[in-house]
Amino acid sequence: MVRRPLLLLLLAASLAALASEDSSGLDAYFAAPGDSLKPRPAPLLSPAPTANAGSPALVSLAGLPPESGTLAPSGGSVIFRPADGGELTAFPLFDQPAHPGAPRTPAVRLLEVANGESEPVFLFHLRNAVIETAVPGILGQIVSEPARVAELGTPWATGWLTLAAPNDDITASRIVRDLAQSAYADTLYAMFGVPERPIGLVGRRGRAAGRLGEYLPSRDSVSLSPGQMTSSAQLRHALAHELAHRWLRSHSQSGDALAAVMPPIRDSLRYGFRNPDEQLAEALAFAVHFLSRSKAIPARPAAALLESYERLVPGTRNAALLLLTFPAYEHHSLVPSVRSLRVWN
Ligand SMILES: [Zn+2]
Repeated sequence: MVRRPLLLLLLAASLAALASEDSSGLDAYFAAPGDSLKPRPAPLLSPAPTANAGSPALVSLAGLPPESGTLAPSGGSVIFRPADGGELTAFPLFDQPAHPGAPRTPAVRLLEVANGESEPVFLFHLRNAVIETAVPGILGQIVSEPARVAELGTPWATGWLTLAAPNDDITASRIVRDLAQSAYADTLYAMFGVPERPIGLVGRRGRAAGRLGEYLPSRDSVSLSPGQMTSSAQLRHALAHELAHRWLRSHSQSGDALAAVMPPIRDSLRYGFRNPDEQLAEALAFAVHFLSRSKAIPARPAAALLESYERLVPGTRNAALLLLTFPAYEHHSLVPSVRSLRVWN
């Protein structure tokens, strides 16, 4: 919960004189554990199952901020259909037995039951996703009765391709250059500043270590690794995360103010778990995503949506309130609500 004194503290901190930190440690951004980055062949969903209308759900895929859509069972999987019309994702509900006759192992785990706006919401781990829904359906049934997976049909799986082949530096460089020159990047630069060096590619050793992005304070440089990412959402998020580190380095008082009231991440698989510096950068990157999503949403549902972000990465709420005081968000539709604190405290 955000109380007025805290917001004032944040406002004061953001206006405080800049304090520079002399840290030269490399920041390395990794995919969420369990996120398979190995390129797998298309086609997607073969043969294609038909998803029915489904239940409303928010899905955080591969550690990314949540996307809204619907979730529907199909065979031995659930199918997520994003509200924005993006590609379907199929999550198998169990692991195939290692040998014939062996029992199926459920892939669903209940993470948390939280208070939603008007009803409880359930958070499940499923594969590389966290699913939030008020209608637990088949996920709840498997958690309460794991043996049910024996009755399920074919476990459809979604295939993923990386944005560039792992060693195709020409394509990867073009992708990074396009991103660096995009309107999205301009928004980030307006908030977090522009690195001294052009945004580049994570080096061979970093890639071998599975790094999706890096920020090197001593060189003020950001690097990304499109050859290890499976979506432009992942690429954009990695840039926001690294630039957030850049901003935190030169605004340590604001960072300290955010960190002082930041509850820890409870999900051990979430990036930033037991690492407050990483959590802070993630919270800012989640806040950037939320503020982009909430432009056209009325204040009250936006506040409810922000709680969903906060459940995944605690600290996102205060990070969003802080960013709303930046000139880059001067015309954001939520600014008047936050000023009057009508629905936010
Ligand atoms: Zn980081």
